[in-house]
Amino acid sequence: MSDYHVHLAPHRAMPEPVDFTADLVEQYVEVAAGRGITEIAITEHVYRCKEALPVLGNFWDDPTIPPDIAAYTAGFVQAECNFRLDNYVGAVMAAKDRGLPVKMGLEVDFFPESIEGVMNLIEGYPFDVLIGSVHWVGGWAVDSQETQSEFDRRGLLTAYGQYADVLRQMADVGTLDVIGHADVPKRYGRALPAENGDIFQPVVDAAAQAGMAVEINTKGLKKPIAETYPSEWLLGRFHAAGVPVTLSSDAHLPSEAGWGINRAVELARNVGYSTHRRFDARTGYDVALPELKED
Ligand SMILES: [Zn+2]
Ligand SMILES: [Zn+2]
Repeated sequence: MSDYHVHLAPHRAMPEPVDFTADLVEQYVEVAAGRGITEIAITEHVYRCKEALPVLGNFWDDPTIPPDIAAYTAGFVQAECNFRLDNYVGAVMAAKDRGLPVKMGLEVDFFPESIEGVMNLIEGYPFDVLIGSVHWVGGWAVDSQETQSEFDRRGLLTAYGQYADVLRQMADVGTLDVIGHADVPKRYGRALPAENGDIFQPVVDAAAQAGMAVEINTKGLKKPIAETYPSEWLLGRFHAAGVPVTLSSDAHLPSEAGWGINRAVELARNVGYSTHRRFDARTGYDVALPELKED
């Protein structure tokens, strides 16, 4: 089994300067190995890299959102932007050089306006895999507890429609490898009912067209929604369209590495998958899912 979504730092402000090391990466590898994981991809957020901030721009300056929602995003991003891309890549590459089963990845926070600039920024770095995630629709953080009021202001179906449209644009651009936590706006309980699932179909179709994978992310099991991202019904749509899956914990601490991957495998099998995808130098290949023992 593999865990293809692992962060080296927790969220919220950290002391500066953040200095990632191969020793830290090794701690994740060891914990994951104890959970039966034979390969992990480290996938830090691009928005946390100082080099990316001028490229992403002040995306919270969004005239369509209330000032308090914009202020929340501005404060959050500025507090979290405390990495150096070179330091991050250097630590992961040093871990690889030790022979650890690690892939060099990045979680690319997608905005239609800046994706070209971000791709230019990261060109030349030796990435194995790029996750594409939508955390913000304009300046609205879709998965923050502090900004849930936007669902009520927009209406649930409109909010999901807007979110899905950004995800669809990401797949249409076609330069990223894996769709991250596809239905993450449900984190605090506001899920899209399966009967309205057609809202996501353009995303599913665009992912299939682009040859992207979708991850089964177990982080949601620990959140108020208590489900994986995506939900089983949505994963079923991806499977029906022939979109491959990666397995992911979205760990932000060594103790979380590989957490719940068994559950992801079980879900993948339930909807009909027999393989999961891994990547090397941005090329995907499929590996059989393990047989899980009944417990
Ligand atoms: Zn994410
Ligand atoms: Zn993540």
